[in-house]
Amino acid sequence: MDLNYTAEQDAFRKEARAWLEANVPREPLPSFDTREGFEAHRAWEKQLNAGGWAMVPWPVEYGGRGANLLEWLIFEEEYYRAGAPGRVNQNGIFLLGPTIMEYGTPEQKARFLPKMASSEEVWAQGWSEPNAGSDMAAIQASAVLDGDHYVINGQKTWASRGAYADWLFGMFRTDPDSERHRGLTFVLVPLDLPGVTVRPIEQLDGEAGFAEVFLNDVRVPVENQLGEVNRGWDVAMATAGFERGLMLRSPARFQNTARKLVALYRETAASGQPIDAGLRDTVARCWVDAEAYTLNTYQTVSHLLAGGKIGSESSLNKIFWSELDLRMHEAALSLLGARAELLPQAPAAEGVGDWLDGYLFALSGPIYAGTNEVQRNIIAERILGLPRK
Ligand SMILES: Cc1cc2nc3c(=O)[nH]c(=O)nc-3n(C[C@H](O)[C@H](O)[C@H](O)COP(=O)(O)OP(=O)(O)OC[C@H]3O[C@@H](n4cnc5c(N)ncnc54)[C@H](O)[C@@H]3O)c2cc1C
Repeated sequence: MDLNYTAEQDAFRKEARAWLEANVPREPLPSFDTREGFEAHRAWEKQLNAGGWAMVPWPVEYGGRGANLLEWLIFEEEYYRAGAPGRVNQNGIFLLGPTIMEYGTPEQKARFLPKMASSEEVWAQGWSEPNAGSDMAAIQASAVLDGDHYVINGQKTWASRGAYADWLFGMFRTDPDSERHRGLTFVLVPLDLPGVTVRPIEQLDGEAGFAEVFLNDVRVPVENQLGEVNRGWDVAMATAGFERGLMLRSPARFQNTARKLVALYRETAASGQPIDAGLRDTVARCWVDAEAYTLNTYQTVSHLLAGGKIGSESSLNKIFWSELDLRMHEAALSLLGARAELLPQAPAAEGVGDWLDGYLFALSGPIYAGTNEVQRNIIAERILGLPRK
């Protein structure tokens, strides 16, 4: 693997940087877990799309730029460096989008992908149920065929962005006699249909970051089925691989946090405040780990570009980025000391930045996209070949 960029890649970086410099909002947008912030982020997605930067690696016909994964990494580096807003439609563009490209019919690709790229339709992921989180094969929400429609009943929970999203993708039990991961089908559900009740759930910061979704005799056209009937598990595993693996957590995100952490360390040291040697080592280690994650991702991309695939290794990736993100935020809070607890609007909060907010979100990293305990089971069984018990 050659770690030098080609002239074309350098030109691509320059073009992305110039566009972002001219277009990234000067002030941070309000949180997309509020209605106002959600719509502001949707408008930003539309602007990205108009500039041709919404979905860099997607084919041009679906609203993308047809770039390869290396260019996507370069774009992400520029995106985070520019301080651009979080992607409100990440469930769609990073998870469902690639799944539709793999499993969708030509009609589904044409129908869903362009509206996803422009965020005219923002997606929520509806997998978790009250009794089916880590044990996703315990899903009970059902879809019963009635003519050319499925009639859906059940409850989904913890749907990120669900409070304001337009559509939900999820798995439903289509074979009532089935058990576990057999007999499930992947279905795309509009959230404005009769029988759908969306109830927002507040997260730690008090904003409605989640929703529970109740489905009561909701009639969904059968053409919204993605992949084969009763084979939804295979489709969902592809989506989960995208979530744990490469696409959702670009290295630039962690490099950016590591850079901010080192800057905070320097400012704190310059202020004359004594810093524990252990904390200095932690900061250095975090920076090195963010670089290691980046190199590892470049290696994965090279493997994919050479025709390889990622399988259970995505579990290693997921544990690494989620634990690194938490360590970086914990180190920042230790550097800030008691001031770390100040909310941004507090009078003495200048210079504290958004570390507290980031920390609250980082706490959830080891839980979402499949808990780290479960990822460790996958690594033990599928990579190390250890027995199940
Ligand atoms: C920020 C955030 C965003 C989320 N977004 C979404 C979303 O958009 N859509 C969606 O569908 N869901 C979403 N979730 C839900 C998430 O996927 C679940 O919380 C997660 O899968 C765990 O399920 P659970 O909460 O039911 O916990 P449980 O499955 O009840 O787990 C409880 C504890 O038991 C451990 N455990 C369970 N089984 C095993 C096992 N076999 N071996 C070892 N330990 C085990 C778990 O690791 C965990 O520590 C989100 C969660 C968070 C925190």
